[in-house]
Amino acid sequence: MPATILVVEDEPAIQELIAYNLKQAGHQPLRADSAEHALELVRTALPDLVLLDWMLPGLSGIEFARRLKSDKRTREIPIIMLTARAEEQDKLVGLETGADDYITKPFSPRELNARIKAVLRRRAPEMTDDMVEIGGLRIDPASHRVSAGHDAQAVPITLGPTEFRLLHYLMTHTERVHSRVQLLDQVWGDHVFVEERTVDVHIRRLRKALEPTGHDRLIQTVRGSGYRLSATPG
Ligand code: CA
Repeated sequence: MPATILVVEDEPAIQELIAYNLKQAGHQPLRADSAEHALELVRTALPDLVLLDWMLPGLSGIEFARRLKSDKRTREIPIIMLTARAEEQDKLVGLETGADDYITKPFSPRELNARIKAVLRRRAPEMTDDMVEIGGLRIDPASHRVSAGHDAQAVPITLGPTEFRLLHYLMTHTERVHSRVQLLDQVWGDHVFVEERTVDVHIRRLRKALEPTGHDRLIQTVRGSGYRLSATPG
């Protein structure tokens, strides 16, 4: 699945090269040449991952990472630090700040892509193409298909694009309650321009599509809190 990746890098040539490589790998790059600019972008929409240069003019990469990690809304965004310095001490500081990984410049596009893939798989399983199955309900992001039932008896389920993303998110983050605001941030990528009840509308559509095979029961309403996908009836 394509990920929106925020590239925070003040050197134009490197920023350009990274953005080009991300596009080649099927991702959507967002670019900022300073941490201040990046903070502005994050305010409007949450990226799926941040590639963060350590040495920036103004607010440093480390300080930017600290800010993301100290805000509940942005805390979960995975961060890969980019740096020209390979000192062990810097690596430790970066990882202590909450960076998920660390790449030393210069790096090859192949290395960058491999690191991105690994971090997304670990931190944001909904961004990878791995098939997920829960209680006979199967979602395959690579082929964009959903089916219910086992093997020969499996029936295809047709979902709209938003319901597909919503189901995929819930199936990769099971057994916990997601508030409407969290779902807007994670599934819509934006909580500023969409009303919270939009989530209810799409949950209703999703349940309706899953009803014929009884899988609508996987999606539970937690009164006053939000929604949860659980393999065990709640
Ligand atoms: Ca720099």
